[in-house]
Amino acid sequence: MRNIVILGAGFGGISVAKNLIGKLPDDFRIILVDKNSHHTFHASLYEVATASLGKRLPQRIDFENLYTSAILDIREIFKKRGQFEFIKAQVSNVNFKERKVFFKNRESVNFAYLIFALGSETNFFGIPGLEEKALPLKDTNEALNIRNAIQEVFERKQPNQRITIIIGGGGFTGCEFASELVFYLKKLSKEFGHLKERVKVTVIEASDTILPGASDWVKKAAKRRMEELEIDILFGKPISKIEDSTVLLKTGEKLYFDVFIWTAGVKANSLLEKISGVTLEKECRVLSDDCLRIVPYNNIFGVGDNLYCFDPALQTPMPATAFAAIEQGKIVARNILNDIYKKKAMKCKSLPSPRLIIPLGGKFAIVDIGPLKLKGFFGWLVKEFTNLKYYLSVLSFIPAFKLWLRGVRIYTRND
Ligand SMILES: Cc1cc2nc3c(=O)[nH]c(=O)nc-3n(C[C@H](O)[C@H](O)[C@H](O)COP(=O)(O)OP(=O)(O)OC[C@H]3O[C@@H](n4cnc5c(N)ncnc54)[C@H](O)[C@@H]3O)c2cc1C
Repeated sequence: MRNIVILGAGFGGISVAKNLIGKLPDDFRIILVDKNSHHTFHASLYEVATASLGKRLPQRIDFENLYTSAILDIREIFKKRGQFEFIKAQVSNVNFKERKVFFKNRESVNFAYLIFALGSETNFFGIPGLEEKALPLKDTNEALNIRNAIQEVFERKQPNQRITIIIGGGGFTGCEFASELVFYLKKLSKEFGHLKERVKVTVIEASDTILPGASDWVKKAAKRRMEELEIDILFGKPISKIEDSTVLLKTGEKLYFDVFIWTAGVKANSLLEKISGVTLEKECRVLSDDCLRIVPYNNIFGVGDNLYCFDPALQTPMPATAFAAIEQGKIVARNILNDIYKKKAMKCKSLPSPRLIIPLGGKFAIVDIGPLKLKGFFGWLVKEFTNLKYYLSVLSFIPAFKLWLRGVRIYTRND
């Protein structure tokens, strides 16, 4: 058997596997590796971090429902597949010469083709105190940490005391989270008898705009919505240091916080820095050629957030988005098949203009997809339809629909 080993079962890794299954010669096998047995749907993490628990179910069950509302079981995605194996293991190193992948607590695996799809991690940019004091939002556990930390402040503080939640970063995650948070805080204020006027949400942004990369129409609509939700947005305020419960800004200002959430940056998986034989570029992403082959190899590819490749039309690095990872996964699968069947490698295509769907609290989202421009409830419907569409692309109908419905039920409790 010749192994095609995919490291990481995120958006990119799953896309490669899905596009290879059923198309390989008999002597090939796909091995998908992930340290978790689930695939995380990051677009719903802001909802997990701001969800209220229901009253009907015992708390433990409700927590389990919440935890599993943004994850998909990998074995359910690939059930009953021939020539496919899933290994739950943590990758520790790769030897390109011997064509071997090494794991923590498991024997190594040989590969004929290898795909790096290890994703990214939070980038704290070396800002003193940030990693120690800030809560990141990158997986389900971190989302629940944030949720619980906020609830604990309400439990701890007297009803007349001020509560301040600060979010570092006015990008997509920061704005989505801040807006939904307002609804969660209203619920908590009511539950714990706090005056909602004394509960404040502030977004600190280093540049002079929120949502970089979005059109002016989107930026304006988002800013208006966030102002309506009484979120303070501070522009042009890079953070210099975090001390105990204070953010120090480069302008010299100091801001007190009860909970500080950091959403302002990612860098590629730090495992890549330990692997010798790959070239790392900006944010430690691994360099590929325009066929998504990792330089200088012919049988090693990359997809998603851990990859540094250029959009051929724009000549700028491809964005770190789920959409880019899925599209790159299709190209990589095609190029592995082309190599096996002795066809010419396919070059990476330019991504279509960004398809932006930005949920901003409650049943409200801004949609900017080509000529389709929406905001409000209909935008939220488009967002829900897009989530369901993704679930249906990887799961069969019943589990996809159930997962989607569970999310809608849990996430709309605050609205
Ligand atoms: C809060 C949040 C919201 C987002 N919202 C959106 C959105 O709305 N739309 C959008 O397009 N993008 C969104 N993104 C970005 C998007 O999630 C990423 O671009 C996308 O996940 C990249 O896919 P990937 O396959 O490269 O990595 P991932 O999906 O992160 O997958 C990487 C996989 O590698 C595994 N892994 C890591 N290290 C190891 C190891 N050592 N051994 C074994 N396995 C390992 C991980 O467990 C993971 O399953 C969001 C991101 C975040 C954090």
